[in-house]
Amino acid sequence: MYIVQIASECAPVIKAGGLGDVVYGLSRELENQGHTVEIILPKYDCMRYDHIWGLHDAYRDLWVPWYGGVIHCSVYCGWVHGRLCFFIEPHSQEGFFNRGYYYGGDDDNMRFAFFSKAALEFLFKSNKRPDVIHCHDWQTGLIPVMLFDNYKYEMGNQRVCYTIHNFKHQGIGGSEVLWATGLNQESYYFQTDRLRDNFNPFALNFMKGGIVYSNFVTTVSPHHAWEARCTEVGYGLGHTLHTYQDKFRGVLNGIDYDVWNPESDRYIPHHYSKKNLENKAKNKQALRERLLLRDVDKPLICFIGRLDDQKGVHLVHHAIYHSLLKDAQFVLLGSATEAGINTHFRHEKQFLNDNPDVHLELGFNEELSHLIYAGADMIVVPSNFEPCGLTQMIGFRYGTVPIVRGVGGLVNTVFDRDYDQERLPEQRNGYVFYETDYAALESAMDRAIGLWYHAPDEFRQLVLQGMEYDYSWTYPAKDYSEIYEYIRHK
Ligand code: ADP
Repeated sequence: MYIVQIASECAPVIKAGGLGDVVYGLSRELENQGHTVEIILPKYDCMRYDHIWGLHDAYRDLWVPWYGGVIHCSVYCGWVHGRLCFFIEPHSQEGFFNRGYYYGGDDDNMRFAFFSKAALEFLFKSNKRPDVIHCHDWQTGLIPVMLFDNYKYEMGNQRVCYTIHNFKHQGIGGSEVLWATGLNQESYYFQTDRLRDNFNPFALNFMKGGIVYSNFVTTVSPHHAWEARCTEVGYGLGHTLHTYQDKFRGVLNGIDYDVWNPESDRYIPHHYSKKNLENKAKNKQALRERLLLRDVDKPLICFIGRLDDQKGVHLVHHAIYHSLLKDAQFVLLGSATEAGINTHFRHEKQFLNDNPDVHLELGFNEELSHLIYAGADMIVVPSNFEPCGLTQMIGFRYGTVPIVRGVGGLVNTVFDRDYDQERLPEQRNGYVFYETDYAALESAMDRAIGLWYHAPDEFRQLVLQGMEYDYSWTYPAKDYSEIYEYIRHK
């Protein structure tokens, strides 16, 4: 099958979070399984050009209709670790993707509406006719809308699979986007069964458009599919998902087992597997040396992730101090886009600067993240909500025991060592708590730290049980292939 992925990220060339990992990892596994996959992305000025091989002009003069005129674009093509990617560069006054950031402009809706339009125009003009177009998140929600309403006759019979990685960001804005993209027909799209936002009757919602118009909609774990439909974490789209429940499903993400492989990871000094876990301890030492932590007989707990409300920052903050209280070390690697949270953690870093048992690294650092996964004993993921969560799965791969809040994909992947009733003791792999208060987090951390100190053999056994799980892309990519087949023949 010929599949085109259209997204705003693809790791490692463009990565702000899990979306980038998913687009790369899924594409790679789909190719391994025999499909032809191409990826269309914006050409940001700040992406990691060092991860692109053979970047060259693929389509020099792409004229994309925008408002009453056209915007001239160039399309480049290159290989990102073996995946064929097309990068769209608009030559517009607004400099849509020349701003030194991926997200965060006041006009993000317009930037990604333009990208969506340009991606379709590129497929159309370059005679690419994929069997399935797979779109991701709000940034590409308008693609099925435009494909089925504006490009139906030009494009033929493409099918669209739309994956929602995060319901919190939906692309909500005014009608301007309709005039810009040529969808026009304000009164038509402002209907509640089309793009009208479920909360604000004067706004359009890109993600809702993606749900209504796509042939199939997925989110990134089965539990989150239920949560999004039935609880507040659907951020107002629950009713829409309920209406379209027959074409909506949760497919658990995977992680790329070549990128995340402690047996060959080029960012860690000592390779290891289930058979020689002693080398994990050497990575712990290397991590301590690198971050100037003292070398003592204590467990090392980490947090890796975006520092924002979703990730439960109040609990992340508490986990640092609780670790110190319970004789554990703590390493945090995180970046905050919100000024308040950023300032908070900067102060925290200054305050803890001289403490030899804690290190806060603020910013995005792919290389360091690998060493932390390899060197830490436990990883905390105390999210308020977590559609899938990759860090706990990477933790398993590196023998780092997750301590998680039981929400979203964490429910589908982490099974409490002491309390999980549905699994045998030898199938359990971490620690789970449910409430958002300090006491809940503390009790899970205390159980994990207690086991590390008082029953090291059992802790080691728990590590090995986690490493047994297969959270690679093998199974999720099969699920997606089945979905593609299903919508192709429907
Ligand atoms: P989300 O997509 O909500 O950000 P996920 O758990 O799905 O969270 O994915 C996070 C991914 O981003 C993981 O691969 C994690 O290692 C990586 N990551 C997050 N923050 C950082 C950071 N500051 N530095 C390096 N990698 C990070």
